[in-house]
Amino acid sequence: MPEVSSPPNKEKSAPQKAMEKLDLRRDIDLALHLPLRYEDETRITPVRALRDGDTAQVEGIVTHCEVQFRPRRQLVTKLDDGSGTLVMRFLNFYPSHQKTLGVGKRVRVRGEARGGFFGIEMVHPNFRGVDDDTPLAAALTPVYPTTAALPQAYLRKAVAGGLKRADLAEIIPAPLVPKGMWGLRDALRFLHEPSPDTRLDELEDHSHPAWQRLKFEELLAQQLSQLQAKREREHQRAPKFSVRKGGLQEKLLAALPFALTEAQRRVVEEIAGDLQREVPMHRLLQGDVGSGKTVVAALAATVAMNDGWQCALMAPTEILAEQHFRKLVGWLEPLGIRIAWLTGSRKGKARREMLEAVASGEAALVVGTHAVIQDDVVFKRLGLAVIDEQHRFGVAQRLALREKLVDAAEGLEPHLLMMSATPIPRTLAMTLFADLDVSTIDELPPGRTPIVTKVFSDAKREGVIHTIAGEAANGRQVYWVCPLIEESESLDLQNATETHQQLVAALPGQVVGLLHGRMPSAEKAAVMAEFTAGRMHVLVSTTVIEVGVDVPNASLMVIEHAERFGLSQLHQLRGRVGRGSVASVCVLLYTAPLSDTGKSRLRAMAETQDGFEIARRDLEIRGPGEFMGARQSGAPLLRFADMALDEELVQVARAAAEVMLDRHAEAAERHVARWLGAKSDYLKA
Ligand code: ADP
Ligand code: MG
Repeated sequence: MPEVSSPPNKEKSAPQKAMEKLDLRRDIDLALHLPLRYEDETRITPVRALRDGDTAQVEGIVTHCEVQFRPRRQLVTKLDDGSGTLVMRFLNFYPSHQKTLGVGKRVRVRGEARGGFFGIEMVHPNFRGVDDDTPLAAALTPVYPTTAALPQAYLRKAVAGGLKRADLAEIIPAPLVPKGMWGLRDALRFLHEPSPDTRLDELEDHSHPAWQRLKFEELLAQQLSQLQAKREREHQRAPKFSVRKGGLQEKLLAALPFALTEAQRRVVEEIAGDLQREVPMHRLLQGDVGSGKTVVAALAATVAMNDGWQCALMAPTEILAEQHFRKLVGWLEPLGIRIAWLTGSRKGKARREMLEAVASGEAALVVGTHAVIQDDVVFKRLGLAVIDEQHRFGVAQRLALREKLVDAAEGLEPHLLMMSATPIPRTLAMTLFADLDVSTIDELPPGRTPIVTKVFSDAKREGVIHTIAGEAANGRQVYWVCPLIEESESLDLQNATETHQQLVAALPGQVVGLLHGRMPSAEKAAVMAEFTAGRMHVLVSTTVIEVGVDVPNASLMVIEHAERFGLSQLHQLRGRVGRGSVASVCVLLYTAPLSDTGKSRLRAMAETQDGFEIARRDLEIRGPGEFMGARQSGAPLLRFADMALDEELVQVARAAAEVMLDRHAEAAERHVARWLGAKSDYLKA
């Protein structure tokens, strides 16, 4: 490509390497690298007009320049502009400073004014020597997102060059661009060099019309690439199942100890609809913790199995996989279905037997961790794969799964159902998962009582332990979740172990168990089994219980150092209680001082139990960049559009993307290439 910004055979400089790291390779990448903010160097403010806290540019003659040693070594200079005197202080300085700031020199200075004891001053302002006719900047000065290895001045030059050379011709057909929107070229030129009279607030909050155009462009590229993936899928073939009267699904429904909720019935229908088409299903089933997704997965599996195809159910942890396994055995074995269980810790003869059962097709359902997609696992004919807590699997794992699956289904693509308990707000679903169909369980099974959430400082720990002793004596089961200490699994462990000992001592006569990630899986399973059976009263645990664990009799949860958990993680954890009919309580213990985000998270937890509301607030607190670890790991996130604010624009872009793919396929391709370059593949994972 002629657009590459540096010749390949020359040794690359540090800034060049830094630019590549930022994916600034092509001229168009540079042109689309937009300022974070701007500095106004287009005007000079008289010193007399400076107020404490103003960031401004002044110009004048140096009247004083001296190195002082008290209270510490510093360069102190004074500048007079005819209206007043500005003091400048430099704690770090070089001989060149003293030269430029010599008495009698004219300088232009930019910085933040402070009303100091000796009048107005600036500490470490930017400055440069000027003549009395040196022109002012004609436009606001852009400040670009960058890294330490890439100086702002270097980047500014590179961007200016890229902007000049890049092909900025309109690609989007005019009728698809919303009325009144700026042209791309104008918008880009403007954003890189806004005229001095532009309102900075409109630039910085991205509400300016030029930004609207850029956001539209960006959203359109994302919608296009995802719709494209979706349409490619339309050309793939999957086994076509039928839902038969008197079939397995009907039998399972009749055997269940409960009736499905309205929402479950609806999503089961949606899934069954997909399974009866010969196009592979690509559906996300989202539902709050405890909304009953597992049974929906089982009902989906019965459809495929009834037609003689196999199903795989993959969960992110062994505990969760085992729990699914037990539940599914209870539901499906009475109907004559054989279920295999595959996890990393299953070795030797047991594993070989499982593998044989999978290969011969004797096991109609395979449940496990990512061990399900290991090389030696060969399915006879896999028709449906279900991924639980899909956001916990990485992009690479999901790609591996897809490859595996295609081999396994006689050249047909198997249907794919992904499940998630982290509900995605609508706009986010539309932007990040436009290539997925989404089913939502928006109702909890009846008979659940709301969870009361209390937030206490850890000064109240003793009192909480006392309460627990009482609750446990009354036959209630308790989770005690220990802090997550980043970077240190062993500290996690130490904490959990100490708490365990403390609770054992405080609760004589009660069974207090311990569960952590380092335990051998057999031991983990044994502890879980004791707790599930109700023989253990208190379970001290690290976050291994986070996902999916289901013990309806557990009605009290204590989360220690709650401030160290993310909001959706707290919500998931809390979802472990409130599953039975007993009123449940969740106690969040925190250690002061709390950061602002820590405070907002705990407040959100205390104020709402609605997973969608939690997700919305999480998005608000963290911003979309960090929201949901899933596909984001490789995907270019939206840089300019804001999913909380630009919902309307998302809709417009989506509609435009449909039309563009239908009628302007070539332009669609060019638009995606312009915006996403080589990155567009990530979006399909
Ligand atoms: P999640 O959506 O968090 O994965 P689960 O599938 O683990 O939820 O279901 C939570 C609990 O609710 C399980 O014990 C499950 O058997 C039970 N359950 C599911 N659906 C219903 C229902 N319609 N009525 C009563 N209980 C249900
Ligand atoms: Mg679950």
